[in-house]
Amino acid sequence: MTPFVYTALPVRVVFGHGTIAQVADEVQRLGCRRALVLSTPEQRATAERLHAQMGASAVGIFAEAMMHTPVDVSERAVAVARDLRADCTVAVGGGSTTGLGKAIALRTDLPQVVVPTTYAGSEATPVLGETVDGRKTTQRTLKVLPEVIVYDVDLTLSLPPALSATSGMNAIAHAIEALYAQDANPVTSILAEQGVIALARALPRIVKEPSHREARAEALYGAWTCGTCLGAVGMALHHKLCHVLGGSFNLPHAQTHTVVLPHAVAYNAPAAPGAMARAAAALATTNAAQALYDLAQRLGAPLSLRELGMKQADLDIAAELACASPYWNPRPFTRDDIRGLLQAAFDGARPN
Ligand code: NAD
Repeated sequence: MTPFVYTALPVRVVFGHGTIAQVADEVQRLGCRRALVLSTPEQRATAERLHAQMGASAVGIFAEAMMHTPVDVSERAVAVARDLRADCTVAVGGGSTTGLGKAIALRTDLPQVVVPTTYAGSEATPVLGETVDGRKTTQRTLKVLPEVIVYDVDLTLSLPPALSATSGMNAIAHAIEALYAQDANPVTSILAEQGVIALARALPRIVKEPSHREARAEALYGAWTCGTCLGAVGMALHHKLCHVLGGSFNLPHAQTHTVVLPHAVAYNAPAAPGAMARAAAALATTNAAQALYDLAQRLGAPLSLRELGMKQADLDIAAELACASPYWNPRPFTRDDIRGLLQAAFDGARPN
């Protein structure tokens, strides 16, 4: 057996339907009594419902979470938390809202309860990306790891089918890169397979019938296992490319992951035969890259960077940026390799 190192992260997970009713108990379990509830402006009504349900354990709502965690928003949230003498945060929403809770924790050490409503997986990671003046930097520190995750399947029923599809593909991307990670280990590899199986089965059903409770439960379970992989092992070329495309060209997060994944997998496949065999088996096929492309197509998700508003003229700069700092990848690459991969993703052709 290949030698390995595995570090488990300390987190408590509550999973089920209607579990939002348990959030107040979870806050008390942390020894806290004054929670600040966080959300995006779009999910304010959900935050208000949660706040009401929490009774005296919630002391306010900050509903200004935004994509890419801008530092000025986080600083405003910290000031609100201080004014209200909040002793913990409860973030209800997707990766953007979770990011805000993490940014507050970084600055105040307030414990976090996260109630995820997308499949992004940020709730299970000690990673925070923040932006100042449009520049995104990422750090990894246990200070930002949420203490408690409350998965309430019912809150995901309202996630629009298009975002469900791309958010689910974003989760699958964590699992696929975990399978060939430099620090891959038996625990994350099993979680990764479980996540891919669950999401590949659930997403087509969700797109057809967004309120399918069983499919929603299966997808959210998959999101958790994939997020756990993201939190436990290092990612590679695919995540680097998406970081560059999102950070420097403002492309949408989950959609960019959906488009790039089949091409990054096709590129890495020759260097990671074991991981590819496991990924393909989880996708019930023999070619993982093509199966991921076909899954995205079946879900009606975008297939090309062109559709996402990327400009052909920017592909050269993106290739430069992706090669600017060295990082580990199962298959070595040159700038020309990356340029070729980006062109394939731009055109959106099925990988062969
Ligand atoms: P998001 O949080 O930006 O949500 C997108 C939109 O959907 C928002 O308007 C949100 O309010 C709405 N929404 C979310 N759930 C909903 C629901 N159930 N019903 C109706 N509307 C809903 O999108 P995301 O893809 O979850 O998160 C993306 C962000 O998370 C990016 O900034 C990304 O960098 C970050 N992220 C970080 C990590 C990490 O480990 N640090 C991991 C994954 C993603």
